[in-house]
Amino acid sequence: MQRETLPVDVLIVGAGPAGLACAYHLKQLLKHANKAGNGPGEIEIMVIEKARELGAHNLSGAVMDPRALNELLPDWRDRDFPVERVVEDEGIYYLTQTGKVKAPWTPPPLRNHGFPIVSINRLVKWLGELCEAEEILIATETPGQHLTYDGARVTGVQTGDKGVNKQGEQKNSFEPGALIESRVTVLTEGTRGSLTKEASIRLNLHGEMPQTYVLGVKEVWELPKSLSTRGTVYHTLGYPLGQLFGGSWIYSMRDNLISIGLVTDLAYRNPYTDPHYNFQKFKQHPWIKELLRDGKMLGYGAKTIPEGGWFSMPKLYADGLLLAGDSASFLNSQRLKGIHLAIKSGMLAAESILYALKRDDTSSASLRIYKDLVDASWVREELWQVRNFHQAFESGFFGGMFQVAAQFVSSGRGFKAKLLSDETHTHMSKVKELGLKNRDEVLASRAREFDRILTFDKLSDVYKSKTLHEEDQPVHLHVADTEICRTKCREEFGNPCEFFCPANVYEMVADEERGGVKLQINASNCVHCKTCDIMDPYKIITWVPPEGGGGPEYSDL
Ligand SMILES: Cc1cc2nc3c(=O)[nH]c(=O)nc-3n(C[C@H](O)[C@H](O)[C@H](O)COP(=O)(O)OP(=O)(O)OC[C@H]3O[C@@H](n4cnc5c(N)ncnc54)[C@H](O)[C@@H]3O)c2cc1C
Repeated sequence: MQRETLPVDVLIVGAGPAGLACAYHLKQLLKHANKAGNGPGEIEIMVIEKARELGAHNLSGAVMDPRALNELLPDWRDRDFPVERVVEDEGIYYLTQTGKVKAPWTPPPLRNHGFPIVSINRLVKWLGELCEAEEILIATETPGQHLTYDGARVTGVQTGDKGVNKQGEQKNSFEPGALIESRVTVLTEGTRGSLTKEASIRLNLHGEMPQTYVLGVKEVWELPKSLSTRGTVYHTLGYPLGQLFGGSWIYSMRDNLISIGLVTDLAYRNPYTDPHYNFQKFKQHPWIKELLRDGKMLGYGAKTIPEGGWFSMPKLYADGLLLAGDSASFLNSQRLKGIHLAIKSGMLAAESILYALKRDDTSSASLRIYKDLVDASWVREELWQVRNFHQAFESGFFGGMFQVAAQFVSSGRGFKAKLLSDETHTHMSKVKELGLKNRDEVLASRAREFDRILTFDKLSDVYKSKTLHEEDQPVHLHVADTEICRTKCREEFGNPCEFFCPANVYEMVADEERGGVKLQINASNCVHCKTCDIMDPYKIITWVPPEGGGGPEYSDL
């Protein structure tokens, strides 16, 4: 097939905070260097993004630590930055099934006073406008489908085809993806990037331990009156997660809007664990129910969060390649914050690229400077302090709290210098080992709890994520062997995909021909959270980008 070839100097895959900060900072550095007479000359920067519009696939809490933005754009406050509110009032609560206990003080790393509360969709749009004003080329509806290589050197990206039907045949509207050739490719795909995964395997970029994940499920509500006129931030622990790590957030936004969500650790034992259901249970707590009374749910979304931190950080560079943001584990799990680290890592990637371009050498010999810059920056200092945080909870919540207390007083060390963990899905136990009830009964009894006023079933929630895909396209969730789903997985794990997917993509339906059940993939519901790629116990599900533009249309999430 004839594909258009597009040469650029720097290609950035993913227009989140990391990718856009990288593009913007690089442009500024180039301007200064070229003006001073020691730059590499005209450099073409291109950013590709799979969403229809900038910001539409980004989901966050979000309270932002402004540290990195202060460095990127010291005058950001004067540039119409989209602040929802500024934090003035905060509290951490431990929830029992019906009660709550407020922590007497907020530990310093968890304090947010003075930080902006943002909607990441609006933040990304704002960053995108800054980039476009600098004439940086941003192509939306353009997924990076595969990396291209020359031996071990990354030479660019092949973008996704458009206009292919379910059977893989070309429709009249067929447009082949392009080959974008670049001297440096920066992967800023966010959590569980599909190209990042491909590169990690091919180039062996794996960190000391595999990445570990939690899943955040979120709604935006409009309340009859504002939660508070001050920027209010509540975090909770405890109910409904019991011994499982995770917790909730409630952030006041502009007008009467609030951001409310729950993070569930995916390193769970019980295969019937359902992060979407946990969130619905959380809303039934008397305090939360009262808070949401007479309110209206406006938006829904879900996304995984990479929480492995420093020990899960992959090798950050290869020939022609850099990794930044969530894709490269730049996230502080203790603070549930990654936006500032995404921006800063994007900036450090930009500084490394300038260095390499000036030497006219974009091999790993030049790009390795990125790791040195990360190590010398506040990023390493921040992530090193929490290097053992998430792993501490894998043996249970209360044991984890005990270990974290020890980490607080020993600069992150705790009882052991290095806590390493296995891949997230390996924590899941089999139904028989745990003596669980029949899966169908569990699903049916949970479904009866949703009233569609306070609590919602997955389909009603997906509707509020405004998720849309072209229906007639190949399924973008590749299940290598569906026979396993109907037999082994059903018996051993009770088809956990029906539980962990927050968008009802996976459904076991009656098999009219053979009897029993078979897997039905409702690919058009997919909100691109990547949970299935992480959690399927047999590692037979691979998430690849669908046709460009498909996916959620987040606007205040
Ligand atoms: C529920 C939740 C709550 C959070 N709360 C907070 C918070 O309060 N404060 C905070 O600081 N952080 C928070 N975070 C973390 C924060 O959102 C991330 O750390 C941050 O967004 C990472 O930025 P990024 O640019 O690396 O990735 P993303 O923001 O995920 O952006 C990646 C972009 O790449 C695109 N992309 C992916 N693959 C491809 C491809 N192959 N081709 C083209 N485009 C692609 C995606 O569509 C997306 O637009 C939260 C995260 C979640 C999920």
